[in-house]
Amino acid sequence: MNYDVLHLDPLPIGPGGRLPNGEERRFQPLAVTLISGTADAVLVDPPTTRSDAQAVGDWIAAGGKNLTHIAITHGHGDHWFTADLLARRFGAQVVATAPTIELMRFHEAARPLLWDTLFPGQIPASPVTATTVPGDRFRLEGDDIVLVPVGASDCADSSVVHVPALGLVVAGDVLYNGAHMYLGDAAAAGVQEWRAAIAKIADLDPRWVVAGHGDRALDHDARRIIAGSLDYLGQAEAVLAGDPSATGYFDAMLARYPDYRHGTTLAWVSAKAIRALRDGEEFPAAAVAAWLS
Ligand SMILES: [Zn+2]
Repeated sequence: MNYDVLHLDPLPIGPGGRLPNGEERRFQPLAVTLISGTADAVLVDPPTTRSDAQAVGDWIAAGGKNLTHIAITHGHGDHWFTADLLARRFGAQVVATAPTIELMRFHEAARPLLWDTLFPGQIPASPVTATTVPGDRFRLEGDDIVLVPVGASDCADSSVVHVPALGLVVAGDVLYNGAHMYLGDAAAAGVQEWRAAIAKIADLDPRWVVAGHGDRALDHDARRIIAGSLDYLGQAEAVLAGDPSATGYFDAMLARYPDYRHGTTLAWVSAKAIRALRDGEEFPAAAVAAWLS
């Protein structure tokens, strides 16, 4: 048994202008994970767009394994909109936890308002075909693949995929690997729940972590990635203690992570969403507006 990761470059997103530092708006890079046995394989978190799904599908086909399952860690559409497309190509079953399936339905409904505006004409039909599996676990050639619910992180009701035989956690967006983190959904409740979600991953004592978004140049060392994500949440909290303006938060987070190459758009969207929530606007409208401006 082993795992491979395909890194997909950050796509430009519409609409909105440039970031305060002059950069163009881009989404995060995506990390897509394939867990392989001798003959069969499991895909975790398929990508957003038709063209990225083509690349992921060709990568799976080149490996020559029979794809049995596609597991989804959380409801944000960037990690599952092409699940049905890839499930049909390979005859695989799409699986997720019950709360994730519920949030997938919300994001499917939010496509015209949000996702199709960010990625116009690029997302295929995305019916929610995911089903639960008994005990949130299934097997790849005799080895357990476990969907572990961890609670709220960068969205509500996240889960992670634990592969005990590999010492691997595929963490979705509970952990980021050296990229700015999206706090727009978490901001309303604070980041304490997110910390608790990370603690649940640490309890699994993984050796390797694949984060849904990160810098492809970095390794998968679990301890470093867990520490890095906790550090980012702490830095964000420290900055927010000063009740900054949106640009104040953005500038401060970029200054604290001068080496980060990805996620500056997410830092800006987070900044606007957090400011709007603090000024009394409601979630999720405040977060959606932050993405579209
Ligand atoms: Zn994501």
